[in-house]
Amino acid sequence: MATTTELQDRPRVLVVGGGYVGLYVALKLQKKIANAGGIVTLVDPLPYMTYQPFLPEVAGGNIEARHAVVSHRQHLKQTELIQGRVTSIDHANRTAVVAPADGGANIEVPYFDVVLAAGAITRTFPIKGLADKGIGLKTIEEAVALRNKLLERIEVASTMTDPAERARALTFVVVGGGFAGIECITEMEDLARAAVRNNPRVKQEEIRFVLVEAMGRIMPEVTASQAEWVVEHLRSRGIEVLLNTSLDNAEGSLRLINLPDKSLAQDFEADTLVWTAGVQANPMVRSTDFPLEPRGRVRVLPDLRIGGDEGIVDNAWAAGDIAAVPDLTGKGLPDGTCVPNAQHALRQAKRLAKNLWASRWDKQLKDYKHKNLGAVAGFGEWKGVANINLLGRIGLKGPLAWLAHRGYHGMAMPTFERKFRVVLNWVIAFFAGRDTTQLLDLDNPRGAFVAAATPAPKPAAAAAPAADATPVAGAPGSAEKTKVDPKEAVTANAK
Ligand SMILES: Cc1cc2nc3c(=O)[nH]c(=O)nc-3n(C[C@H](O)[C@H](O)[C@H](O)COP(=O)(O)OP(=O)(O)OC[C@H]3O[C@@H](n4cnc5c(N)ncnc54)[C@H](O)[C@@H]3O)c2cc1C
Repeated sequence: MATTTELQDRPRVLVVGGGYVGLYVALKLQKKIANAGGIVTLVDPLPYMTYQPFLPEVAGGNIEARHAVVSHRQHLKQTELIQGRVTSIDHANRTAVVAPADGGANIEVPYFDVVLAAGAITRTFPIKGLADKGIGLKTIEEAVALRNKLLERIEVASTMTDPAERARALTFVVVGGGFAGIECITEMEDLARAAVRNNPRVKQEEIRFVLVEAMGRIMPEVTASQAEWVVEHLRSRGIEVLLNTSLDNAEGSLRLINLPDKSLAQDFEADTLVWTAGVQANPMVRSTDFPLEPRGRVRVLPDLRIGGDEGIVDNAWAAGDIAAVPDLTGKGLPDGTCVPNAQHALRQAKRLAKNLWASRWDKQLKDYKHKNLGAVAGFGEWKGVANINLLGRIGLKGPLAWLAHRGYHGMAMPTFERKFRVVLNWVIAFFAGRDTTQLLDLDNPRGAFVAAATPAPKPAAAAAPAADATPVAGAPGSAEKTKVDPKEAVTANAK
């Protein structure tokens, strides 16, 4: 264990996680704490905050990936940044252990106050084959990979002659009918349609999108009638919506079962499987001495101090997806806590920063209370649904809802600089259309250089090969290189 000498020797507010909550807490406190002789330290394995509501639009190619994240270095100038993962917290001794992102020795970070803001991770179930085949939509890297995979599958399928292989490449499955899943499948469908318009070897009717949802309805954030409208909307676009259905096995083909009788619903092959079926509190909280509730979230009081049956834990705070924050409006989850979303995370962060600062001066803390503003969702260009709670409920569908979605998120994107970049993306896409350029070899960017820098094998002796010699794999005329369909070869020989 190393206690790095690089760390500032000042009373520290340690912020664990630099997403919605962490970024805003640090933004609000960094100057005040520094002026008072302390330091805000933010630890996150990522050098940026991810604006997760934009992940579907990144996957759909409407927003450039870098524009959907907010750089910590650029915007937290008075905050001490450590790129790494907090692996455990010993609050009794006011220390956290950080595993640096560069793989170096663990660092022990002492603190005065701690703010838990490590969010949530994708929640999965032990479904065979899911870990090998699936991809989530929680990080910017996943969104970029999804976009590239979709475009790559369409291009690859366009040269395939085997109908089964072609169908598998052109089938895209999303599991989870919440906001993230519906926005993801609709943005992907829009992108796929645009890509197919540019590719004369693939027909629009060959593209297959399937949404799998275990419940009897989708999008719990909107009214039942709006959710029904969304289902009809998806079906009108050719997206198959399977309700009361669950993924049972993904080892070979995808096996879907009907709930609750568990009978077989469908069994088909698909190269792309996206999992968006819920989140769970970041399991790092289990390596702390803080009180947890049954769902694994940290227990907090309405003023966002951590506290359990044994009372308030001094100098410890939490908010966002990692915390079970009481919803004082009574409109939250059935257990009385806030729904895990950005609307709450952002406002909780601001309240937490104010309360933490007030606690330093023994001032009165205020409880967090926020009336839900509603929900807005975009389903690709000019399509969406919104449920806005302003002076009564306003339900919107279609272009107006889509504009409300863009207006809200354009404003909510943190920092003016990022708002500007995102809005410019939209303006460019409006005039230039959706960008369907596929970026290749992101997994192996050095491949071309390695091939160029590796000395070629010396040419074989010039002797003519024997008539029955086996062709070298990959050489001109070899079966591997030309990929001749055996059926076509038979027909050609017969002519
Ligand atoms: C695809 C998608 C779409 C969404 N759309 C909407 C929407 O339209 N409206 C809405 O209100 N909400 C939406 N949400 C939910 C919203 O994004 C989250 O509720 C919000 O990000 C929670 O904020 P947070 O700060 O608690 O966690 P996050 O923003 O997830 O931040 C957690 C941070 O902690 C870091 N971290 C993780 N582990 C550690 C560790 N061990 N040590 C240090 N740091 C760590 C992570 O790298 C991350 O930066 C969406 C979510 C997704 C995935």
